[in-house]
Amino acid sequence: MKWNDYVVEHIDVGTWLIKDQIGSYLYLLEGREKCLLFDTGLGILPVRPVIERICSKPVVVINSHSHGDHVGCNYEFDNIYIHYADYESLVGEPYVPDSRTMALEVAETALGRKLTEMEKQGFMNEEERQKKQTVNKLQGKEIFELGNRQVEVIPCPGHTKGSIMLLDKSHRLLFTADSCCSTYGVLLMYPGATSVEEYYDALQKIWKRRDDYDRLYPGHHIYPLEMKYLEDFISCCRNVIEGQAEYIVNEEYQGCIFVTYQNAKLALPESCIEKYQLQRGTV
Ligand SMILES: [Zn+2]
Ligand SMILES: [Zn+2]
Repeated sequence: MKWNDYVVEHIDVGTWLIKDQIGSYLYLLEGREKCLLFDTGLGILPVRPVIERICSKPVVVINSHSHGDHVGCNYEFDNIYIHYADYESLVGEPYVPDSRTMALEVAETALGRKLTEMEKQGFMNEEERQKKQTVNKLQGKEIFELGNRQVEVIPCPGHTKGSIMLLDKSHRLLFTADSCCSTYGVLLMYPGATSVEEYYDALQKIWKRRDDYDRLYPGHHIYPLEMKYLEDFISCCRNVIEGQAEYIVNEEYQGCIFVTYQNAKLALPESCIEKYQLQRGTV
């Protein structure tokens, strides 16, 4: 189904994946009393009319982290939840400077055309975006009761300091956002990312709870991901920390190296070569 240029897919009972125009994934989870929206996309076009067509109940909005491709339609909602460690970068100075201009470039490249003046006005208007919104800080242990459906906040510092996943035990789903992703992998090279060690610790805690879920829904690219992805990211981190990993350089991404292990791919800052004594690979 396609509404407002968003593609909506029913992925489980009372659960929808909403793809925005650049391929960011939003998730809508419906309980008996409330709905939960995990992320709001890049924000080229309003998403709220799409949400309201699916679900007429009150909507709780949670951001997986503060990057522009996940918070773009926050302005359409009165109340937003984000982990406290990403709060400042959402309401103040973003981790990646000038991220709105970058977001515009991303949007135009993805669409293969320039935005119309009207789209651009909505898209670039910071004042409109930040009006009257209450941003609530998550501590990382909350359980949201949607009515016969509980969704738990699982901290996963790594991609950003305040990145979270959401766990829905009753449906056995783990929504990983950018903390476990295929294709370009998990990006730890941007300002605001944590050390590999911190990401590794977070993943291990999440892996310990693997009996609670069996499908992973990421923020971009392939979905659902097999459980093995999580294991592979853990192994990939361990290899880096132990200096056992080989890195490759991709000229397109300056200042950044890639390390892979089976399904997992980590993008790291170049400084990691020295820090972990990594060897240059041949591929
Ligand atoms: Zn991100
Ligand atoms: Zn993203």
